[in-house]
Amino acid sequence: MTNQPYITCRQLIDFIADYLDGTLEASARREFERHLGVCPSCVAYLESYRRTVALGKAALKPTEDAPGPEVPAGFVAAVKRALVEQKPAT
Ligand SMILES: [Zn+2]
Repeated sequence: MTNQPYITCRQLIDFIADYLDGTLEASARREFERHLGVCPSCVAYLESYRRTVALGKAALKPTEDAPGPEVPAGFVAAVKRALVEQKPAT
């Protein structure tokens, strides 16, 4: 048993992004997980944070799993035309 004080919920929240990125240094990570062990509300917060980040990433960059909206063929042609016109003459 250790009587070392736990980090606060506020500190845990500051660490969350680094923790999920895997960039949190080992000692801070240990304190982070120690706090999670005694604080169910932070466990719940971490879960909802993780879900929110996953949703945000899915929304920002569509993948093959979740394709973005169809782009009209006319729009693609117009963009190609614009790109060709912008090309400097050689
Ligand atoms: Zn907490």
